[in-house]
Amino acid sequence: MNVPESLKPSNREEERLLQELDADRLPQHIAVIMDGNGRWAKKRHLPRVMGHRAGVQSARTIVETCARLHIPALTLYAFSMENWRRPKAEIDFLMRLLREYLRKELPVIHRNNIRLLVIGRADQLPDADLVVAGDGVNSALREPHVEHFGSDVTLGRNTYVWLGTTKVFDSFTFSFVETEHGWIWCYAYPFSGEHSTCVVECSPETWTGLGLDTANEGEGLPLLEKLFADLLDGHALIGRVQSDGSAQWLNFRTLTNRTWHRGNLVLIGDAAHTTHYSIGAGTTLALEDALSLAGALREIPDLGAALAHYERERKAELLSIQSAARHSAQWYENLPRYIHLPPAQMFALLGQRHSPLLPYIPPQVYYRIDRAAGQLEALRRFKRWLGPRLARTVQAARSRG
Ligand SMILES: Cc1cc2nc3c(=O)[nH]c(=O)nc-3n(C[C@H](O)[C@H](O)[C@H](O)COP(=O)(O)OP(=O)(O)OC[C@H]3O[C@@H](n4cnc5c(N)ncnc54)[C@H](O)[C@@H]3O)c2cc1C
Repeated sequence: MNVPESLKPSNREEERLLQELDADRLPQHIAVIMDGNGRWAKKRHLPRVMGHRAGVQSARTIVETCARLHIPALTLYAFSMENWRRPKAEIDFLMRLLREYLRKELPVIHRNNIRLLVIGRADQLPDADLVVAGDGVNSALREPHVEHFGSDVTLGRNTYVWLGTTKVFDSFTFSFVETEHGWIWCYAYPFSGEHSTCVVECSPETWTGLGLDTANEGEGLPLLEKLFADLLDGHALIGRVQSDGSAQWLNFRTLTNRTWHRGNLVLIGDAAHTTHYSIGAGTTLALEDALSLAGALREIPDLGAALAHYERERKAELLSIQSAARHSAQWYENLPRYIHLPPAQMFALLGQRHSPLLPYIPPQVYYRIDRAAGQLEALRRFKRWLGPRLARTVQAARSRG
């Protein structure tokens, strides 16, 4: 077998086994019923719990080997419904073992990009004091209770793809390119000494017109590299390889939740709310949620009251940011309204895209008012006064509706 880099054999036995493996016939999903710990211990005249401890070691080896072999999915059936009939002391031991193991291994799980899904009747597992659902916009912890949370998703009109590039930009850079099917643009910013992020966005008409809706990643990336050749200086775009080779074009999902907690489960970050990427605030907001939650838990002894306080505080903070994000996303959806203005005006209004007033005022008039406001203190104050009020009113009406 062609041994992947990650799979250097650690001993002769493993080397021999690897030689017998056919890389093209490795399974995509392995499921293991973890059975026989008790028998293993009995055979060695050891207590059953020692068998369970040894079972954890075997599970660890299985997970690690699957990761090294690039097996995409592994299911471990760890506890069956019949197992509830076992003595309470043994069940308590098993649950403690699971908790201890997950706590210890979590950093390794994260480092190796392993996604852990709890399947089966998770609600019968012993309760934690608090479960913090920080598992992103598609939160598996939120999903079974969408009715309770009042989750609402609005899909953006434009399509986008989240790419990387080896070109390192020295600052946040916008690039707008006109094609015969309409405009396509890119937001690019550095994230390390070797790479930058490139988010490419366009209207659905441009997307289908350019054939990006049917192109797989291998066909789509060269087309985008050609369109953004001036921006990329000959550097390549880097996609996110899907197992079927498709490109990951998406419509942004703006998520809101009517309530953010249920019993001892609380939502934070993207699991609770999303704001369009064009305002670049999602990570800060997720961290601010965590700070607010920690503060509420420290200050308020009653869990329910602490979670309610956290939700109230963060929702109030978010109103104006959610409004800014919505207007920013709309600005790009209404690009034809601005793109043919003289460049100085167009870029000035790009900087004003969060404004709740802009959609209601002809762009050139807005531009002139904005310029005048820059010079007239009274007008500037009026604009500063009116904008947030309008934004809060519209956003609060939306949240209620
Ligand atoms: C195209 C685009 C560009 C963006 N650019 C910016 C930007 O420039 N600046 C900015 O601040 N924000 C940006 N954002 C938003 C930002 O990415 C998110 O708001 C932020 O990452 C939210 O953090 P989070 O921890 O709540 O969720 P996530 O970052 O989604 O983290 C959730 C984590 O939970 C893990 N997880 C989920 N389920 C499981 C499971 N069952 N087991 C184990 N792990 C699990 C996931 O693997 C993931 O690591 C952008 C978003 C998009 C779509």
